[in-house]
Amino acid sequence: MSEIRDPSLWESGKRKIDWVRRNMSLLRSIEEDFIKEQPFKGVKVALSIHLEAKTAYLCKVLAAGGAEMYITGSNPLSTQDDVAAALVHDGLNVFAWHGSTPDEYNRHIAAVVSAGPNVIIDDGGDLVNMIHNEYPELISSVYGGCEETTTGIIRLIAMNKAKELKFPMVLVNNARCKYLFDNRYGTGQSVWDGINRTTNLIVAGKNVVVAGYGWCGKGVAMRAKGLGAKVIVTEIDPVKAIEAVMDGFTVMKMEDAAKRGDLFVTVTGCKDVITEKAFNNMKSGAILCNAGHFDCEVDVAGLKKIAVEEYEARNNIQGYRMADGRELFVIGEGRLVNLAAGDGHPAEIMDMSFAIQALSAAYIVKEHNAMADEESKVFYVPEEIDNEVAQRKLRFWGFEIDKLTDEQEKYLNSWQV
Ligand code: NAD
Ligand code: SAH
Repeated sequence: MSEIRDPSLWESGKRKIDWVRRNMSLLRSIEEDFIKEQPFKGVKVALSIHLEAKTAYLCKVLAAGGAEMYITGSNPLSTQDDVAAALVHDGLNVFAWHGSTPDEYNRHIAAVVSAGPNVIIDDGGDLVNMIHNEYPELISSVYGGCEETTTGIIRLIAMNKAKELKFPMVLVNNARCKYLFDNRYGTGQSVWDGINRTTNLIVAGKNVVVAGYGWCGKGVAMRAKGLGAKVIVTEIDPVKAIEAVMDGFTVMKMEDAAKRGDLFVTVTGCKDVITEKAFNNMKSGAILCNAGHFDCEVDVAGLKKIAVEEYEARNNIQGYRMADGRELFVIGEGRLVNLAAGDGHPAEIMDMSFAIQALSAAYIVKEHNAMADEESKVFYVPEEIDNEVAQRKLRFWGFEIDKLTDEQEKYLNSWQV
C-alpha cells in the first residue's frame, strides 16, 4: 500500500540513502542489533518525519528490526519523491509526495494513522493530533510514541497537563544527544546550507538578524558569525538575551533590527515574529526565512496582503514589491529553510537524533505495559539510552575519554571530604 509521486525514481533515492548510510555509523550498528533481536516483530510503526534520505534510512532500520512501516513526511516541501520511491521499492508503505496540497498532506497523515499503529514516531504532533481527534477508536492499540522536535514537545506537555494525552510519548528532542547537537550544530549548518544554495549570495559583511536565541538560534547565530556576518539577535527571554550579548552579538527589538537587517532568520517556535510593522521598516532587498517549526514566524500571509506585486525571483525565492517600490524576498514560503530549501541536517547529526528515536521506539515496545500504568503520559528518554548513544558515537569517531576511579566517584558523591 502506497501513494507516492513516481515509483520509477527509486534508483536516485537509493543512491541518496546509500550515501547517508555510509555516514550514519550509529544507525548501522543499531541495524545490526535489530536484525538479530527483532524488537519490532509484529509491531506496526507509523512515522511522520521529513521524508528525505536520513529518515528513509531510519525507516529501513526499523523495518530490519521487524516493524511493519507506514511512512509519511512532516512537511510538504521536504519530501523527496525519489527517496519515497526507494522505500516503496524495498516494500515499505509510503504515503507522501513533494509539494502536497493541505488536503493531500492530511490524506497522507490519515493513511498512516488509519493503519492502526502500535508505535508512533512524530515530528511536530501531526500523527498524535490526528489519532486523538479523528481516530480515537485506534488509541487503545497504540503502545506509545516518540516526538522529534521542540514545538511538538511543548504541545505534548500541554496536552498531558490537560489530561488529554491518551498514550505514553517519549520526548526525544529533550535527550542531550538530540538538542545539543541536532538543534544547535545541525540547524546551525543546514540553515546556512539552505540559504546559501538558494540565494547564492555572500553572507560576509551582511547584517544577519536571528530571532530566538534558543538551541537552534545559538547554532544559526554562531555559524553566521563564522561566515563573516554582523549578527543581531532578538529575544523575549532576558537570560537568553544576556547569553547572546556575552557571545558577542548585538541584541535589540525586532522593530529596530528590521531597519538594519539584510537577512532575517526566525527560529523561535513562536508566531508573528516578523509582521507588517517590521516589513514596513525593512531595507529594499531584505531576505527573510524561517527555521522554526511552523510557517507562521514570518507572516507571509500578511506580506502578501500589503505587497502590490508578487513574483518568483529565483527558484524557491518569492519576491514582494511594496507600494513604495521596495522589494522583500522570502525563501521557501517561510517554511523551515533548511528542509524546504535544502536536505536538512547533515547525516552525522541525524545519526544521533535517529539513534535516540530507534532505541526509544524499542524501549516503548518493551516497556509499554509499565509506561501505561504511569499517570503522566510524557517520558524523558532514559539516561542509559542517551549515554549509550554518546558512548557509541565517540567510539565510532575514534575518541576515548577517561573513566572515574572508585575513589573519584566516592569523592564526587560525598559531602564530608
Ligand atoms: P528553544 O526553546 O531552545 O528556543 C526558542 C527561543 O526563542 C527561546 O529562547 C525563546 O525565548 C525565543 N522566543 C520565543 N518567542 C520569541 C519571539 N517572539 N521573539 C524572539 N524570540 C522568541 O527552542 P529550539 O530548540 O531552539 O527550537 C526553536 C524552533 O525550531 C522550534 O519550533 C523547533 O521545533 C524548531 N526546530 C527546527 C529545526 C530545524 O531543522 N529547522 C531543528 C530543531 C528544532
Ligand atoms: N512538521 C514540522 C516539522 C518540524 S521540523 C514542519 O512543518 O516542518 C524540526 C525537526 O526536523 C528537528 O527537530 C530536526 O530533528 C528535524 N530534521 C532536521 N533535519 C532533518 C533531516 N535531514 N531529516 C529528518 N529530519 C530532520
